[in-house]
Amino acid sequence: MSFTLIDTHTHLYLDAFDDDRHVMVKRALETGVTRMLLPNIDVASIDGMHALCDAFPDNCFPMMGLHPCDVKENFREVLNRMETLFSQRKYVAVGETGIDLYWDKTTLSNQIESFEIQVEWAKRLNLPIVIHARDSFNEIFEVLDRVNDDTLRGVFHCFTGNLEQARKIIDYGGFMMGLGGVLTYEKSGLTEVVKDIPLESLILETDSPFLTPKPYRGKRNESAYVKFVAEKLAEVKNISLQEVATITTANAEEMFRLPS
Ligand SMILES: [Zn+2]
Repeated sequence: MSFTLIDTHTHLYLDAFDDDRHVMVKRALETGVTRMLLPNIDVASIDGMHALCDAFPDNCFPMMGLHPCDVKENFREVLNRMETLFSQRKYVAVGETGIDLYWDKTTLSNQIESFEIQVEWAKRLNLPIVIHARDSFNEIFEVLDRVNDDTLRGVFHCFTGNLEQARKIIDYGGFMMGLGGVLTYEKSGLTEVVKDIPLESLILETDSPFLTPKPYRGKRNESAYVKFVAEKLAEVKNISLQEVATITTANAEEMFRLPS
């Protein structure tokens, strides 16, 4: 294998993969995607995520957290339960958390509280925080402006912002941006932004089964397809795929403290 990639954000435990989950992990491994990081969503997703990580302990690594779209009335209870899990097994990050104002604006105050609680975990446990930001950069920046310090690090997953937002993220000091299939969508305008973001601040992801890159846009996404994101990034930066792989893999190893 001439290069290795890390899919830093993939939901392989979801039922979209019930028929071929292990086949698909193997296909990723054959493509050079040697490690897949699994963000948790809610209480219901935990067991399946753990099971996949147990089946591929050298390749699949779990995170623990509550997705902003799943912050319901009982979120404090859910978070208390999730918090106890950190002493029971190893997680590579807290997440995914963040704020989503696309699907539901009415839960904003609870989403902010849930996000802040998870930021506190990340600081205390010395883990990165994985942030989902949809129509919510201002709200997230408001929280981070308040709580960021030199113990906090993390990722804005599926980054689709503008250059000003990218610069603000970099200025926090400990943050990187995760690039996925949207980079391959011409109309997104993301390539123009990414041209000016240093490679040192970028990692790769699929967000499988969602946001499938070209040439498979519209079909189910899978971790092997992170290669198409890497190829697009190589084209945008006018460097080799090998160089993209080397740098983004090193970035992910540093962010998630993975052995190289
Ligand atoms: Zn996700």
